[in-house]
Amino acid sequence: AKAQGRGCIRSYTSEMNAQVVERLTMEQSLRQAWERQEFVLHYQPIMDLQTGNMVAVEALLRWQHPRLGVVPPAKFIPLAEELGIMPTVGEWVLRTACLQSRRWQDAGLPMLTMSVNLSTQQFIQVDLTDRVAHILDETGLPPSCLAIEITESQIMQDVESAVASLRAFKEMKVHLSIDDFGTGYSSLIHLKRFPLNRLKIGKDFIHDFTKTPEDETIVLAVISLAHSLGLKVVAEGVETEEQLRFLWENGCEEMQGHYFSPPLPASEMEGLLQENRQL
Ligand code: C2E
Ligand code: CA
Ligand code: CA
Repeated sequence: AKAQGRGCIRSYTSEMNAQVVERLTMEQSLRQAWERQEFVLHYQPIMDLQTGNMVAVEALLRWQHPRLGVVPPAKFIPLAEELGIMPTVGEWVLRTACLQSRRWQDAGLPMLTMSVNLSTQQFIQVDLTDRVAHILDETGLPPSCLAIEITESQIMQDVESAVASLRAFKEMKVHLSIDDFGTGYSSLIHLKRFPLNRLKIGKDFIHDFTKTPEDETIVLAVISLAHSLGLKVVAEGVETEEQLRFLWENGCEEMQGHYFSPPLPASEMEGLLQENRQL
């Protein structure tokens, strides 16, 4: 029994060591990723259901790891936040997305809204709106072609300063979307103070509502809440015709999901935009 006990301890500590080593390796390669320019953006279409056209694209960050391949954001953004590099990476995301959108416009492709996610640390920067204004200026993208996506929990961290930033964005004519609605602690009282344009229903609700009646009820309630606040509804993660039909019948305006297209590299996105133009 004694030997077994010791064996347990040994495997426990070596597992801990392995975790520490993995984290340190990850930390190191994440810092290098920034220096080595291993980050790329993919773009996913957002469709307008009335016209059937693409009306926006969401920029989604990818890390092209030399050995591991493409690392999804859920695997590295939390660590990047912890390391304090997200404001820098996020600023690169904004600039790259705005520049890309401007290039597509210059190439005569249809005008689309470029939708960009902000990290928590980025959102709390005191000079955030100035930074965004500067990037718009630099890239020459009209502010009304940019949409910023923030989550409920990001807003709720500091409601007063969130209201101030969001109002400043609105004054600049930048569009605002509340992301993953329904997953955080939302306060409906606060919601009406924010000058939002769109409300995005998180993909977890969309995935499950065809199976669970409660989720169907939530989706319907969120659509009606959004409409009563004058917001457009974007459903995320639409994968099936059944989901599409239900959302369409219940007044959802815009959709995003693998049913239409997964996030694509810029070059492939450009191909889609060219087809869109011919419609
Ligand atoms: P999100 O903002 O909710 O983005 C939507 C996520 O849903 C994306 O995951 C997208 O690839 C995925 N998705 C879209 N359609 C479907 C579908 O039909 N089925 C399924 N299963 N998934 C679908 P992704 O790209 O892995 O991003 C995950 C999260 O990472 C994002 O969630 C966002 O919170 C964050 N993120 C991504 N890019 C950035 C960025 O540039 N900055 C910041 N701060 N966060 C980002
Ligand atoms: Ca988003
Ligand atoms: Ca989302």
